[in-house]
Amino acid sequence: MNGIWTHFGGNLSFVSLAMSLWALFSIQFQRRSFMQERIAFGIIAGGASIGSTLLAIEFDPGIYIDLRFAPLALAGMFGGPIAAAFAASLAAAFRFAVGGTAMIDGIVTIAITAGIGVAGHVWTRKRSPGFTDVVVLSLALGGALVASMALLPTLVTAHVLAGVGFPLTALNCLATVLGGFVLLKTRQWELERSILVTAFSQSPDYLYVKDRNSRFITVNENMTRLFRFRTTAEMIGLSDFNLMSRPLAEELYYLEQQVIDTGLPLIDSTEYIEGRFLLASKVPLRDRQGRVIGLAGVTRDVTERTALERELRESKNLLSHAMAGMSDGIAMYDSRGFLVFCNDQYRSAFPLSGDARVVGAHISDILRRVVETGERQGIPEGDVEEWIKAATASLHSNKDEEVQLHNGDWRSIRTRLADDGTAMAVVSDITATKQAEIALRLTAEQLKNLAETDGLTGIVNRRTFDEIFARETAGSARRNTPFSLLMVDIDRFKAYNDTYGHPAGDQCLRVVSKCLRQSVSRPADIVARYGGEEFVVFLPDTSAKGAMIVAEQFARRLTRENILHSGSEFGRVTASIGISCATGATLRASPNRLLAEADTALYEAKTQGRNRILAHSRENGHALKETG
Ligand code: GH3
Ligand code: MG
Ligand code: MG
Repeated sequence: MNGIWTHFGGNLSFVSLAMSLWALFSIQFQRRSFMQERIAFGIIAGGASIGSTLLAIEFDPGIYIDLRFAPLALAGMFGGPIAAAFAASLAAAFRFAVGGTAMIDGIVTIAITAGIGVAGHVWTRKRSPGFTDVVVLSLALGGALVASMALLPTLVTAHVLAGVGFPLTALNCLATVLGGFVLLKTRQWELERSILVTAFSQSPDYLYVKDRNSRFITVNENMTRLFRFRTTAEMIGLSDFNLMSRPLAEELYYLEQQVIDTGLPLIDSTEYIEGRFLLASKVPLRDRQGRVIGLAGVTRDVTERTALERELRESKNLLSHAMAGMSDGIAMYDSRGFLVFCNDQYRSAFPLSGDARVVGAHISDILRRVVETGERQGIPEGDVEEWIKAATASLHSNKDEEVQLHNGDWRSIRTRLADDGTAMAVVSDITATKQAEIALRLTAEQLKNLAETDGLTGIVNRRTFDEIFARETAGSARRNTPFSLLMVDIDRFKAYNDTYGHPAGDQCLRVVSKCLRQSVSRPADIVARYGGEEFVVFLPDTSAKGAMIVAEQFARRLTRENILHSGSEFGRVTASIGISCATGATLRASPNRLLAEADTALYEAKTQGRNRILAHSRENGHALKETG
């Protein structure tokens, strides 16, 4: 029995060696096609199987005991159906050539074990097989071998199971586990290596490794493109002296030799080569003893980035120049209300809250400063926080505002909203424009007053009276209240002028108009100079009785003024007054009737001896009442 184990020991070594050799060569086969690799694996596994058969123990005449099944199962699991088919075919062909009583049983077992391997391959197809899978495979193989020995007729007859069943099964299982372990490890290294190779060869940077003499040991694909080589192999052994001008190559050689001599890396040194900006790093490469054996280099082309950076810098400069040079203040607030940018003009446009207008400040804090300093006019007293809240909320809307500052200056604030919620505010000093506008409005008002009032007396003139009278009478139909009119004429005024002179006459007219103004009380009442020394008093919502009271009031005031008039039969200035009264409806139908009737009454007062008040009577067309 001991002899069997020793014999199997040699067999095991052979199978393991074959798998290890394959592990080594499989790296070479990676460059070849998938199919070639599988076929090569199948041939090697088949060879291992044949080798094992060559070293077999002849248990009984024609019955050979060996480890031929382990490489077949491994070929199936790691190489799939193709490798398994090649391996099994070779092993079966050889077993057939050897012949003997158990030839058919041997070939059947070969097929079964290769099949178990393929089943393992299908089982682990979606993932990479692990060590557990290899153990399961070896157990399945062991089971299949025991079953073969127990069932296949020739083997049963020879009592193989009882004779060598255990060492045969155990060592085939062990060979499978050992070989599988080697293949698993190789796969793992291959994966790591291919990751590194991919990263190295596909990097967008220029990567290279050089020896101590600055000659290329390896370069990536980008390097071959840069220097117009077809393969990386063509560049190996070359140096910068073969690739660029001598002065440049010398300069780089000097730098690299410094790295190699000092052992200190060179990080991100900028180089400008043939119109391109490069960022180069060179690090020393050491062996296990720490001796520098060369260097590894990474060069990044930053031409585009540098150009973009320069463009950005220039446009930024241009923009800030423009911002600084413009007369308007500009500010940008983000969607949450924080100040992101502003120019100096923006700050100086608000002299009291300027120091609060800094980048990062929130609009509500800026507005609070505005309130605290009293910088802005027109902020409602009371709930200041409420105003700040409302003003903060309104920042994010398109609007044009005109605000007046504490010192009377005016600012226009135009706010525009961008799609991303940013608010852009442009502030202009509109003090001059605003002042001109105010002055213009005042002038317009003065002009209007001038046109509406009488220059001598300051009361409404005839033209304006006619306008107001027309407007009032047009709207009077809606009201059924009475309207009254007084027509006042100074008595013997020609004589007054003749006696005391025109300027004295003017003064007298002023006094008369003052007395008239003082005699009316309601805002709607209108006192107007109707002609030379004739006045009208229009009294809306006033009855004839009310009009009479106004007329008497006036007469009393004029009497009290006691303006001496030697040419008058009364010895002082007096006036005659005609009164008319009508309802809204009548007035609307014939607006001039009121004036005509007042005129008639006035004429009657003159005729009856002057210095009296007569109200027009509709019945007889004459005065109703007189006072003197
Ligand atoms: P009667 O009692 O009939 O009204 O007599 P009267 O002299 O007042 O009559 P009349 O209407 O003929 O005279 C009006 C005078 O008023 C004529 C004019 O000299 C004078 N007058 C009109 N307008 C002005 C004015 O603006 N200033 C001055 N000083 N006199 C004026
Ligand atoms: Mg007159
Ligand atoms: Mg008169």
